[in-house]
Amino acid sequence: MLKGYIPPFNATVVQKLLDQGALLMGKTNLDEFAMGSGSTDGVFGPVKNPWSYSKQYREKRRQKAQGESEAADCLIAGGSSGGSAAAVSAFTCFAALGSDTGGSTRNPAAHCGLVGFKPSYGLVSRHGLIPLVNSMDVPGILTRCVDDTAIVLGVLAGHDPKDSTTVQDPVKPFMLPSLTDVNKLCIGIPKEYLVPELSSEVRSLWSKAAGLFESAGAKVIEVSLPHTSYSIVCYHVLCTSEVASNMARFDGLEYGHRCDINVSTEAMYAATRREGFNDVVRGRILSGNFFLLKENYENYFVKAQKVRRLIANDFVNIFNSGVDILLTPTTLSEAVPYLEFIKEDNRTRSAQGDIFTQAVNMAGLPAVSMPAALSHQGLPIGLQFIGRAFCDQKLLTVAKWFE
Ligand code: GLN
Repeated sequence: MLKGYIPPFNATVVQKLLDQGALLMGKTNLDEFAMGSGSTDGVFGPVKNPWSYSKQYREKRRQKAQGESEAADCLIAGGSSGGSAAAVSAFTCFAALGSDTGGSTRNPAAHCGLVGFKPSYGLVSRHGLIPLVNSMDVPGILTRCVDDTAIVLGVLAGHDPKDSTTVQDPVKPFMLPSLTDVNKLCIGIPKEYLVPELSSEVRSLWSKAAGLFESAGAKVIEVSLPHTSYSIVCYHVLCTSEVASNMARFDGLEYGHRCDINVSTEAMYAATRREGFNDVVRGRILSGNFFLLKENYENYFVKAQKVRRLIANDFVNIFNSGVDILLTPTTLSEAVPYLEFIKEDNRTRSAQGDIFTQAVNMAGLPAVSMPAALSHQGLPIGLQFIGRAFCDQKLLTVAKWFE
């Protein structure tokens, strides 16, 4: 829909970087309209994970599947901001921006061995960011280390008169101490995140990381986020409903693609949208319009909003009980090969894969995915830290300690 489109103004985050002298090298590939978890559904084709070419991985694959083509080994970069992650991971740039509505910055960070930071909702302006779910979207930051994230966040954070949801109070610079004492910290491990789909490697890494905090003197306790199991379906209803209304602006009249049909305005709208959107986007528009039908609105959309509040309150209760930071996996497993990802039921699978990241967006909290270790295949695995709203500085400080 927006292929070749050049916006007439810069997003606030872009302008702020330019104002500080940053060199913007280009735009990166992603899933169409940021809908996805693999960066496999973009208009420019799938993003390749640079780790597909790591020596150790190639060696392992050679032993496993003799005679398979190189393409069969190509790994997904995660998504939806997979192009940004691939660009940083391949050392083509210092940092990249992504968007994060349900995990799209943290997920590719985990798959590409990077720091992927989702700020508190309202800390960084969304002006110029194409909306997916307005109440959950945030610009995200991808870097190779936490200090780099803090540098970029320092430039981006703060009030923007063009985004009324941004913080009013002036934001202090993000200075991360080089030495942190974690022995006064209480780290929560949400028991509901121990899902059966979690790979054994991620699972053991998760408990190893918890042990690391414990041996440094932190208190590590099991906590409960009781509404976790509703988060995927709740996100789905809210996301598709907002998509249905957000996508209405792409009608072929104002900007972007326009089809050649000129029988009637309605026929032009329909053909433009059929040609301009892929089936993921069209599917979400359809679902969303179904949930928003007069007879369904109360039962789906309004109910999902109530469930969202319960999910957000779970986090508030945990933090009010004295927990400083939550430690969770970021993804169910390391990156999988592209051909595996697009096989079977890709949509359901990728929707379920967002289990650890989506609730954070519904609650507006800051979270960061940290590269934790390499799997036995030599691929990066990420772990996620979640903080209290607007405690981004503390979150990054703990992340830096972990690094
Ligand atoms: N995977 C989720 C989705 O497809 C999240 C996407 C995002 O954060 N942009 O909706």
